[in-house]
Amino acid sequence: MTSQLNEVSAPTRKYVERTHHILIDGVWREPTGALVDIIDPSTAERIGGFYSATREEVNDAIAAARGAFDRGNWRGIAPAARAKILWRIADLMDKNAQELAELEALDGGKPLAAALNGEAPAAAEAFRYHAGWCTKIEGRTFRPSIPGLDLEGSTRLEPVGVAGLITPWNGPLVMAAWKLAPALAAGCTVVLKPAENTVLSTLRLVELICEAGVPNGVVNIVLGDGASVGSILGEDSRIDKVSFTGSTNTARSLIDASKGNLKKLSLELGGKSPVIIFDDANIDEAVNGAAEGIFSNAGQVCVAGSRVLVHRTIYNRVVEALCDKARNLKVGRSMAPDTQMGPLISAAHRDSVEGYVVKATSQGAEILCGGKRTGDEGYYFEPTVMADEKTQSCVWSEEVFGPVAVVTPFDDEDDALRLANDSDYGLAASVWTENASRAQRVMRKVRAGIVWLNCHGIPDMAMPIGGYKQSGWGREHGWKGVEAYLEHKSIMQRIDNI
Ligand code: NAD
Repeated sequence: MTSQLNEVSAPTRKYVERTHHILIDGVWREPTGALVDIIDPSTAERIGGFYSATREEVNDAIAAARGAFDRGNWRGIAPAARAKILWRIADLMDKNAQELAELEALDGGKPLAAALNGEAPAAAEAFRYHAGWCTKIEGRTFRPSIPGLDLEGSTRLEPVGVAGLITPWNGPLVMAAWKLAPALAAGCTVVLKPAENTVLSTLRLVELICEAGVPNGVVNIVLGDGASVGSILGEDSRIDKVSFTGSTNTARSLIDASKGNLKKLSLELGGKSPVIIFDDANIDEAVNGAAEGIFSNAGQVCVAGSRVLVHRTIYNRVVEALCDKARNLKVGRSMAPDTQMGPLISAAHRDSVEGYVVKATSQGAEILCGGKRTGDEGYYFEPTVMADEKTQSCVWSEEVFGPVAVVTPFDDEDDALRLANDSDYGLAASVWTENASRAQRVMRKVRAGIVWLNCHGIPDMAMPIGGYKQSGWGREHGWKGVEAYLEHKSIMQRIDNI
């Protein structure tokens, strides 16, 4: 087995091999729960491990966040001072980008170039963007219409309180940044729980947050699996809000766990997003976009374009070109410079992706290219294209979360929309056409939280993202994303007696 630890910088290697602690009230503590291995999915090598937090340790983290919020040592400081600290976090992330990217590549399997040029700067940018919001959180005044009384009405925005932040493994660094930055900008304190497969870059980020000067108790991090550690954040009434990104099934458990205390929930969930290619599209660009939409990060992306709908007149041409791209993608280790697609996150996940392909075949879908596991070590799966004109198979309706596109022809705009909206999910879609009127008509009728025209999967901090239907509750990014960590307080003041 070739260890990728020999290919990373000395500080990264040292970081991976050290004992990993959790942060409670500004103190890094060694947790005492079950040992969890840290696996490099590129090689299946155990590269380290950490101890999970016990229930008592999670309780301590929650108490620390509650205490810090109630003392007001973060929400109480001047908004401009909070902004400066958020900006400093971003600068520290830039300074340590190589290490953050290497950590992301090691336990997440993300190709290093993508982590270095995409994830690391994008995560830093989330803190800069939200630094700007700190000084722009403002209420309104209004004149009430109650006869006979001289009144002044106003609204104030206040931080929601203690936020539990639960992140998935498919983009740990940006997912953590997308939650931490707005929560901190709003003045909340937090308990963060990263996915158990990918703790490294998040732990390092939290170290940088401490270095930037965030006061003790404001950011706390616990480690461990969802069922034993994550669920406590849902159950505990000292937490005012949970912001969760992950699967729809886990969201259901969280809703159940938080039923007793009715805490606020933001849920960023799965998708089965359509890529709709019309015959008047720039076909080369559409095929490139469709390939990137499903094969980047090995399809482990919430907005992956996993259903490719193609106008029947260009169907054969598009499918052939897409398969060509799939066959020519360089699949390999995350640290190899020529890798275009890395491994899946784990053996279990690779088995799950394989299971979907086998089941879909038995349900009438046809493998056009790929369809098998590959590689001698690590958890690789071939870039795969399947055809399913009858739209009856599991790869049509269920989120595979792997490099598997299902292609289906359509006859006209109505047919395309019928197919696009034939999903329990409604996270994202892309429309490929050079006809401006058609583009508007289709984008308005697709039931999805985000629609791209002639591109797919491009995020921006100013653009809210979130789901229709079973893809979630609420939005991240933009003002909507900050508002998700705020409460609105209305104040009515009687003036005439003053
Ligand atoms: P997951 O639901 O298995 O896990 C997500 C997180 O929840 C992890 O930290 C996990 O430990 C924790 N968790 C698991 N069970 C829990 C419980 N009972 N209570 C509390 N926490 C629990 O999801 P995953 O496999 O890590 O991530 C993949 C999923 O995430 C996909 O469905 C994908 O579409 C979705 N996702 C959505 C977005 C988005 O913005 N909409 C972004 C990325 C990923």
